[in-house]
Amino acid sequence: MKTDIAVIGGGASGITAAIAAKEANRRADVTIIEKLPRTGKKIIASGNGKCNLSNKKISEYNYHGSVRAVDIIGNMPDYTSFFTDYLGVLCVSGSEGREGGIYPRSNSSNTIVNAMRMKLDELGIKEICGCEITGIIPENNGYTLICGDENIHCKRVIIAAGGYAAPSFGTDGGIMRLLKNMGYKTSKICPAVAPLRVNPDKLKGLKGVRVKGEISAVSGGRILRTERGEMQFNENNISGICVFNLAYLFAEYEGKLSLKADFLPDMSWDELKNYLENIRKSRGNLPLEELLTGIFVKNLAVYIVKNSIENPLTDRISTLSNSGIQSVLNRIKSLEFEVCGCSPWQNSQSTMGGIHASCVDGNLQSRLHKGIYLCGEILDTAGDCGGYNLQWAWSSGMLAGGSCGKSLKGAGK
Ligand SMILES: Cc1cc2nc3c(=O)[nH]c(=O)nc-3n(C[C@H](O)[C@H](O)[C@H](O)COP(=O)(O)OP(=O)(O)OC[C@H]3O[C@@H](n4cnc5c(N)ncnc54)[C@H](O)[C@@H]3O)c2cc1C
Repeated sequence: MKTDIAVIGGGASGITAAIAAKEANRRADVTIIEKLPRTGKKIIASGNGKCNLSNKKISEYNYHGSVRAVDIIGNMPDYTSFFTDYLGVLCVSGSEGREGGIYPRSNSSNTIVNAMRMKLDELGIKEICGCEITGIIPENNGYTLICGDENIHCKRVIIAAGGYAAPSFGTDGGIMRLLKNMGYKTSKICPAVAPLRVNPDKLKGLKGVRVKGEISAVSGGRILRTERGEMQFNENNISGICVFNLAYLFAEYEGKLSLKADFLPDMSWDELKNYLENIRKSRGNLPLEELLTGIFVKNLAVYIVKNSIENPLTDRISTLSNSGIQSVLNRIKSLEFEVCGCSPWQNSQSTMGGIHASCVDGNLQSRLHKGIYLCGEILDTAGDCGGYNLQWAWSSGMLAGGSCGKSLKGAGK
């Protein structure tokens, strides 16, 4: 089989790249090659089926890795131009109180995929599904892609095969390993937008607790990043969007990373101390077990008191010493959990690390192989939770596809 431009991977970045390539060069024959039986499967699952496709506030702070994602995003058409003006999809911001997040107005990710598929049809872009590329061989004037017994000959290749996150959507890092064997440099890889594992002993009694607060990633006593939101305590990990946004730090700080929780960030240490001293006075007859009943859900309230003081919880609150109050305070405002691992890939939404920025030029063309372009999660950038990863996929797809299409001017029929 022959095509001018072969796009490996029919996810968010691959579909966008195919569209951009065809728009840049209507004469080029563009084909998406997808391993799964259909394209766009991860987009459909995104944002709990609602597709948080972008964010109103995009800055450097939201992207991590060697690729300068925010510069590329800033130079590409924004979500309104691409989705509303070009694809006809109406978008709204802030579904479910998620500040800044942009969603399709329909509240359904299918709207996005349907609009993209219609555009692929309109432009005459072909799809070959159920075809896993296992080899990319440079040849005169292009490349041969290996898919089982089939060879696909093309002039240009756009690699949009994603990373390692959520392998049930076709992303097991196979193409990343292939590129490594072809000489591409990768930076350290770990799950991003994912829970972080902590010692299960430290979590005993907390399983099932959900609490709003502040959580910081700490290393060597230094706070690396602080997030606010709902923390969820599970058997061997802590999750919630606020933790998801810290997971990427595991790649750099493995073995020396902790999470420090402040369960009452809106109250200062002094205010809280006064509050506890008042309780000791006014509710001194109650058992210690009830000390924090007015502040937290039962399991968390008991966990904090139990781990702060040695007295039996049946003792009266009035027996609480000043150092006992300090110890309770410490656990409410600064409870530290050592991170002992990251989550399995199936529980993560993105990949920290990937093909290093030094392997591509400003148009996302490979510096190692002319005519190969890369886009999306396979590149070394991970966005925060909140529409940042999909925005990167669309923007990098536009850049790689557009540059690739232009580079072939005059090719095709
Ligand atoms: C459950 C879930 C929810 C998410 N929700 C959001 C959200 O709401 N907002 C947000 O911004 N981000 C979200 N993300 C992250 C976001 O979906 C991804 O970062 C983005 O889809 C990556 O796009 P991509 O095109 O680079 O890769 P992918 O979408 O992963 O697509 C890569 C494609 O390449 C195919 N492929 C892989 N290897 C081969 C091969 N060898 N041959 C042929 N094809 C191959 C795969 O089958 C896959 O279809 C979510 C992720 C998950 C898992």
